Amino acid sequence: MGDIILQTEQLTKRFSKRILAVDGLDLQIPRGQVFGLLGPNGSGKTTTLGMILGVVSKTKGSYNWFGEGDDYKLRKRIGAILEQPNFYPFLSARQNLIVHSRIKDIRKPDTDGLLKMVGLYERSNDPFKTYSLGMKQRLAIASAMLADPEVLIFDEPTNGLDPQGIAEIRQLILNIRDMNKTIVLASHLLDEVQKVCSHFAVLRKGKKIYTGSVKEALESTNTISVSADDTVLLVQAISSCPGVVSVERDGDILKLQIDDAWSVAAINTYLVEHKVAVNYIQQKRSSLEEKFLEILKESDQSLSTLHNQSVS
Ligand code: ATP
Repeated sequence: MGDIILQTEQLTKRFSKRILAVDGLDLQIPRGQVFGLLGPNGSGKTTTLGMILGVVSKTKGSYNWFGEGDDYKLRKRIGAILEQPNFYPFLSARQNLIVHSRIKDIRKPDTDGLLKMVGLYERSNDPFKTYSLGMKQRLAIASAMLADPEVLIFDEPTNGLDPQGIAEIRQLILNIRDMNKTIVLASHLLDEVQKVCSHFAVLRKGKKIYTGSVKEALESTNTISVSADDTVLLVQAISSCPGVVSVERDGDILKLQIDDAWSVAAINTYLVEHKVAVNYIQQKRSSLEEKFLEILKESDQSLSTLHNQSVS
């Protein structure tokens, strides 16, 4: 099995008889991924991060870091930003980083390098209390990176930030990825996962209901709208086209689900070869948001189907 950074098996947290926060979670995160845990509020993201960091006790199941187990000593190789760390308001960014490196027993922290990386170098001697929320968050990231960890864990990294602050943090996460780090990120924002993550899992009420690559999620519901001067001829040609998975008619427009191996250009060429005068063709990729909503709807339907089956 390749270089797996984190594996969880049936990881479960029950807070009480009523609250099953995480329910049998299986995850596998290879080195170099930016892995998003996506789910609405209360779906169990923070509890999952708490368990894999050893700060929330697990009820059942296991997690394994770097193929070496769950020993707390492995925490040194993991940098985490779960909530605002304690920074002294009257000390500067540089002084705060030095304090944190002493607490973490790091002998020679590269404070300059880290301050430059998070874009705080110019302001590094100003007191922490004068920083914007975005700057405070960037300092928290620098602090999490003091020990040069292999993995970074973020919980809702852009919460409360303005659009510029959000863009800065997202770019910073991508820069960290480019430093060959593995990143695990919890977010309820679809847009964030779409922009930052390479892979993701969707959590709903503590259960994983979908996992896969962001790219595939964006591509897997590939639809094309097409119309032609002669609709009858178009329908005929489409019905014999091997690249078309399903067809839905909306007036004169046909909406096609196409095979992943087929492009819009290939469909167009096929139609032209079959003497269809195409007057409109457009591809619409499903956004992750549509996918996410679809996933939640499907899950709701399957739950209600199950429920109906069990009551009938
Ligand atoms: P959010 O983004 O709102 O924090 P989340 O997806 O991170 O959501 P969790 O915070 O992990 O979700 O919460 C999952 C469930 O566990 C919720 O029902 C929450 O109320 C419950 N929960 C979390 N922490 C505790 C706790 N210490 N005691 C009891 N229940 C808890």
